[in-house]
Amino acid sequence: MHNLIIGTGVSGATLANLIANVLNEKVLIIDKKEHIAGNCYDYRDDNGIMIHKYGSHIFHTSSEKVWKFVRQFADFNQYMHKVVAIIDGIHTTIPFNFNTLYDVFPQSMARRLEEKLLAKFDYNKKVPILEFQKQDDIDLKFLANYVYEKVFLHYTTKQWGVSPNDVDGAVTARVPVYLSKDDRYFQDKYQGIPLEGYTKLVENMLEHPNIEVRLNTDYKDLKGSFDRVFYTGAIDEYFDYKFGHLPYRSVNFKFEEYDREFYQKNSVVNYPCNYDFTRIHEFKYYLNDKSEKTVIAKEYSEFFELGKNERYYPIPNDENTVLYKKYLEEAKHLKNVYFLGRLGDYKYYDMDKAILRAIELFEEIV
Ligand SMILES: Cc1cc2nc3c(=O)[nH]c(=O)nc-3n(C[C@H](O)[C@H](O)[C@H](O)COP(=O)(O)OP(=O)(O)OC[C@H]3O[C@@H](n4cnc5c(N)ncnc54)[C@H](O)[C@@H]3O)c2cc1C
Repeated sequence: MHNLIIGTGVSGATLANLIANVLNEKVLIIDKKEHIAGNCYDYRDDNGIMIHKYGSHIFHTSSEKVWKFVRQFADFNQYMHKVVAIIDGIHTTIPFNFNTLYDVFPQSMARRLEEKLLAKFDYNKKVPILEFQKQDDIDLKFLANYVYEKVFLHYTTKQWGVSPNDVDGAVTARVPVYLSKDDRYFQDKYQGIPLEGYTKLVENMLEHPNIEVRLNTDYKDLKGSFDRVFYTGAIDEYFDYKFGHLPYRSVNFKFEEYDREFYQKNSVVNYPCNYDFTRIHEFKYYLNDKSEKTVIAKEYSEFFELGKNERYYPIPNDENTVLYKKYLEEAKHLKNVYFLGRLGDYKYYDMDKAILRAIELFEEIV
């Protein structure tokens, strides 16, 4: 059997490895970009700092299966991600939790709010912001409005380019109030950054005599016939947009280098209320890179426009789901062509979920 995989991101690379390794079949894997690893691509710059070209990527999973799989290709450090936000000039952690409460309010007020919260919700619970807003108690209502305004409203508007009311619940659920003192952004059992970076991790996945990698190669220009085709590119593009374009949010990263050891106190600092950028990434934190210089990226959200920028986040809403389903139906008529990955499934996946989806598709086929 000869397999073709379009896309060398973690979805395509996972499949390629399994097909080559487990089935002992030939795989040609192509990418239109000049590098492997898709959105997870990273590289060391002249200062020895590992730069995440498409924004900070932190590996986190609670899936034993995924963890066991990726550990074959990389050792990880024990980096646990925290996000600092600047709210009214105060550096604090988000998601908004009990520590945030004490950072932004006077002690006595924070204590009163904490007691009321604990009387109402279980400790360690994550309450999505829009649900949290449904409060009767006057103090909790005040808190809900505060968090909505200071953490959620402007950030969400900047990030999605529309009012929060027009953003899908799946997205707003990602902005919770966390009734805990756990400052970590993720609570997964396994978290970390691959010691030699994500590109090396993907390179190791693709290192197999059965796998041929071809870069700078668009699927549209490829000749040849294959027994199976796995497509991790955009599903609407595959069908020449016959039903219309699936919308995405894109991101513009403005990279800046500074002649000082650190720019900010944390790898990621969010700016929910100020400036046009949503957050600033400082990359040297992830692998504890030592350099007298530092590199940051300011992240500006914008709409995806074909030929101008990259697809980043699928925009989940009813209209787009209907459009995606038309393509999905069309895909069902194809024989031995499979769609997967964040672009193929038109779905936001964290890396572990993208890998799991590829493993499960492989298991289905086998
Ligand atoms: C800003 C940002 C931050 C993120 N941070 C995290 C994080 O901290 N932790 C986490 O777990 N996840 C994170 N993610 C999610 C992560 O990037 C995805 O899970 C992952 O990239 C999915 O991999 P993929 O292989 O499905 O897609 P991709 O990485 O996009 O790979 C698809 C590949 O297909 C290629 N391709 C497309 N069309 C064609 C074609 N016609 N011909 C040839 N090649 C083609 C593309 O060039 C690309 O290389 C983040 C995502 C974004 C946008």
